[in-house]
Amino acid sequence: MRKVAFYTLGCKLNFSETSTISRMFEEKGYKKVEFTDTPDIFIINTCSVTENADKKCRKIVREARKISPDAYITIIGCYAQLKPKEISEIPGVDAVLGAAEKFRLLELLDGFVRTEETKVLASEIEGATTFNNAFSINDRTRTFLKIQDGCDYSCTFCTIPLARGNSRSDTITNIIQSAEEIAATGVKEIVLTGVNTGDFGIRNGKREDKFIDLIRELDNVQGIDRIRISSIEPNLLHDEVIEFVAQSKRFVPHFHIPLQSGSDKILKMMRRRYLSDLYVSRVEKIRSVMPHCCIGVDVIVGFPGETDEDFLETYRFLNELDISYLHVFTYSERANTPAPDLAEPVPMKVRHERSRMLRTLSEKKRRKFYEENLNKTEIVLFEEDIENGMMHGFTNNYIRVAAKYDPVLINELKKVKLISINTSGYVEVEDAEQVVLTH
Ligand code: SF4
Repeated sequence: MRKVAFYTLGCKLNFSETSTISRMFEEKGYKKVEFTDTPDIFIINTCSVTENADKKCRKIVREARKISPDAYITIIGCYAQLKPKEISEIPGVDAVLGAAEKFRLLELLDGFVRTEETKVLASEIEGATTFNNAFSINDRTRTFLKIQDGCDYSCTFCTIPLARGNSRSDTITNIIQSAEEIAATGVKEIVLTGVNTGDFGIRNGKREDKFIDLIRELDNVQGIDRIRISSIEPNLLHDEVIEFVAQSKRFVPHFHIPLQSGSDKILKMMRRRYLSDLYVSRVEKIRSVMPHCCIGVDVIVGFPGETDEDFLETYRFLNELDISYLHVFTYSERANTPAPDLAEPVPMKVRHERSRMLRTLSEKKRRKFYEENLNKTEIVLFEEDIENGMMHGFTNNYIRVAAKYDPVLINELKKVKLISINTSGYVEVEDAEQVVLTH
């Protein structure tokens, strides 16, 4: 039995796709093994957003060669689509597959026999028009289910549309079927994943469904306890979606909404499809129907032309907004994007300083959100990671909790009372009925 190992860089979408590709190998009789378990084949799923993507890719290939000198090494993913030639020149790479080819690798690389020449099978991104269904089954607790791929927006900093192509989606029927399959494995939580998740519903270039139709259907899938929406653009987070989540049986009160900048000048330069006012109205709407909803925000610092005043506008905007945490990204120039030509670059040192300031703000926001939730009763899904006799999990509204390890609780939903924030930033809990869980 030939052995195959996988390595994934980047986002949840990449993880769900690697997981699906690994199941395709297993169905064909290959054995999935750990990276260090002398595999015959390595599949490396790359990301173009990861900083130093090329360095990382080279390093992983080097390591793979050391572990199995004769293995067949294949590179797939966003970086493979963007720079196939560059990757094919990395010593030790046997094949590079683009976005339109990666799900057909078993057929295209039939037998995985090494040859003198590196195979490069990467069509232009316009060729990536089909939707390939994917979901991850890596742990027992949570699954990333891909519902949408690609993006039709053209934010000036982003390479994703170049790496993943136009917006396209699965059908509602297929997604429900995947959700039922996931439920049958015993997984309790599904995270709906896509490049532009809220844009769900486009097939063959035409809008055939809406995101709200999908979530209404998913809410009725028996056996799944929680469904989380991974991230949704503010202009697509319509009132009907917020109101639906507020009364839903399975969708949890947690939204992750990219903002990117609190300055309208920068938002326009980024070619985002909203201004700061719309973002405020989304947050206010959520708070009006779900006061304890967790709201996460993506923000980019150091975009070309971002002055100290623009940055402070973002800082003040976020400081005043009732949100729960930030994901801070330091802007970095990407090839073939318009952003670097729009204005003078911000010095690296300044970008890092701004990033540090927002990370500190994020910690303050998270702590405030946790404090507001203390003494409340919440439902936690306990996970498998055990550390120093403690186990962890997330509440419906995405508060990280810690409790004394109890094997019976793994992958179980439990009603708990949130008691206090410990020094590691977790909230310690008590059983809602009887005190058993704190140290
Ligand atoms: S919405 Fe903008 S940032 Fe997000 S994937 Fe599309 S182009 Fe990139």
